[in-house]
Amino acid sequence: MFRHVKQLQYTVRVSEPNPGLANLLLEQFGGPQGELAAACRYFTQGLSDEDAGRKDMLLDIATEELSHLEIIGTVVGMLNKGAKGELAEGTENEAEMYRSLTANGNDSHITSLLYGGGPSLTNSAGVPWTAAYIDTIGEPTADLRSNIAAEARAKIIYERLINVTDDPGVKDALAFLMTREAAHQLSFEKALQSIRNNYPPGKLPPIIQYTDKYYSMSEGGEVRGSWNSDKNFDYIDNPQPAVDGGDGSASVKLTPKQQALVKAMAERTQSSTEGNPLTGAELGAGKKKV
Ligand code: MN
Ligand code: MN
Repeated sequence: MFRHVKQLQYTVRVSEPNPGLANLLLEQFGGPQGELAAACRYFTQGLSDEDAGRKDMLLDIATEELSHLEIIGTVVGMLNKGAKGELAEGTENEAEMYRSLTANGNDSHITSLLYGGGPSLTNSAGVPWTAAYIDTIGEPTADLRSNIAAEARAKIIYERLINVTDDPGVKDALAFLMTREAAHQLSFEKALQSIRNNYPPGKLPPIIQYTDKYYSMSEGGEVRGSWNSDKNFDYIDNPQPAVDGGDGSASVKLTPKQQALVKAMAERTQSSTEGNPLTGAELGAGKKKV
């Protein structure tokens, strides 16, 4: 059950309207790293989780993300408030209004002109929100890793947004939202590590002979570190195909009828190594047929 509380999760004080900034903030409203995507991601994961503690955490964080969606959407609305009234009532000189919406090359027509000043379910470039932003697969050891990465990306987008505004109130609200994403990342990392045997994900065991191999697939300038160190890996310099010791060929068993059809097709489309056919490209370039 959801009940709406009228107060925001965090107090927001926007200094002055700024349609261009409003548009940039849409990235965290309806963008891939945004709050709606985060809320839907954790809400759907939580509904299907069999672990009571993890289910509770996912639904807590999903609900907090909805509170963040409310904050960022409210800030977008505040930043558009001036333009909203002016556009709706048409009181400004047209050129003045046009200039205020497109000042500094921003795309604020998306929020202010097309959506009347309200937050739109788009990213900052006007691309509609899509459930394809969410990559849940229904296995906690995989989903928690994806959640950790999603929180890392959200944190970075907030950091970039903080860097493009000098409005202290907006900066303050964004810093709160950014900090909460870092806190979520920590919770997800703890939840992942609280699952025993979380690596590799899933139930099937990996094939032992390939798990600790590092294949150096290029020549020159190899850099060695813990990710390929002798301590952690069997470092294979210049690996030869096939690494399983076989001849590296591929084969499939076909019925006699399938074999005959494949052979017929191969013969029909066989290329000739004889001759030198004249091409349209050569004719176009003025080459004469001999
Ligand atoms: Mn959030
Ligand atoms: Mn988060």
